[in-house]
Amino acid sequence: MNSNVNRIELSGIRKFSNKVAKVPGAISLTLGQPDFPVPKRVKEAMIEALEQGKTVYTSNAGLVELREEISKYLESFGISYDKEEICITVGGSEALFTVFTTLIDRGEKVLIPTPAYPAYENGVKLVGGEVVNYKLNEDFSLNISYLEEAILKSGAKYLLLSFPTNPTGAILEKTQLNALKDLILRYDLMVITDEIYSALCYDEYHSIAQLQELKDRVIFIGGFSKIFSMTGLRLGYFCVNKKLMDDFMKVHQYNVSCATSISQYGAYVGLRECLRDVEYMKSEFLRRRDYVYGRLKAMNFEVNLPKGAFYIFPSIKKFNMTSEEFCELLLEKKKVACVPGSAFGAGGEGFMRISYCYSDKELERALDLIEEFIKEI
Ligand code: PMP
Repeated sequence: MNSNVNRIELSGIRKFSNKVAKVPGAISLTLGQPDFPVPKRVKEAMIEALEQGKTVYTSNAGLVELREEISKYLESFGISYDKEEICITVGGSEALFTVFTTLIDRGEKVLIPTPAYPAYENGVKLVGGEVVNYKLNEDFSLNISYLEEAILKSGAKYLLLSFPTNPTGAILEKTQLNALKDLILRYDLMVITDEIYSALCYDEYHSIAQLQELKDRVIFIGGFSKIFSMTGLRLGYFCVNKKLMDDFMKVHQYNVSCATSISQYGAYVGLRECLRDVEYMKSEFLRRRDYVYGRLKAMNFEVNLPKGAFYIFPSIKKFNMTSEEFCELLLEKKKVACVPGSAFGAGGEGFMRISYCYSDKELERALDLIEEFIKEI
């Protein structure tokens, strides 16, 4: 067995959602799967592609017309990558692994925020890298001083950013952008920015990938799972400066050859014709965010207003239980499942993650039950 495999664990999110499956009648707010169907035109395009026999390999980097559409789409966020700088992957997950495998040598250190999406720490460890956690502000926004401290202490050369953030809903604030840029240049960092939720930003959007002067040192990761509600169709991408693409392509090519052809045809039409559906989903998530936030506040949870994605991360510290104990008990007593914050690393202990990409009815019922639960404990 590869010794790196022993350094990592099965995902705490999945572990918990699997437990829920065994509790009949439980309401699960554990997964990041939007409750909307795939936009109609995306579905039609995939059916058409299938009927036309477009079931063969695409080029390794993915359909050129899709890469051109991604390039235009990113331009609307102020991010410039041309089609040669984009590689279509099997979900954002493959993009993360291809990037980690290409960049990180055994023993090299990677700065990862805590709490964070668990694939970062585990992916880095799997390729033999070392994780250096950096702390965030109390509202989970980036704290430049904490980050600098972690750089100085560790000498790490890779920085992972993730905005809007799973599990906290934090975004990159305009005021942090320049200081972050200075830090990246001063310490000669290579940056991986996972922005799979960039379409779901409820406040002004800012990204380190918007800064042209950092183009050589930023790798951007995006995906279609969330924007087109197509998690099972497994489509994502990464963008990297042309000069570096060949090296990344080696890893991607030998790993998956190419992403699924049918999904690529769907996403192509999605970017051309379905951005209004995305706007609709976003407005729905925003409404649900306000509802869930309002309910949690009314229950006196300490909680930050998420500014992106579809997760909220209230503190459960005052209940004097670990996050795992709290979520286990909530599931046992009220049949409501939320993910223990500890599934997102050391910085997540004392919190739980609620996904609010579920129906109004489920959210309302689950929050009623959470309200009953905290009165009882
Ligand atoms: N990054 C983040 C922050 C995520 O939350 C997820 C999925 N939950 C992914 C990447 C991977 O998504 P996918 O492989 O479905 O594109």
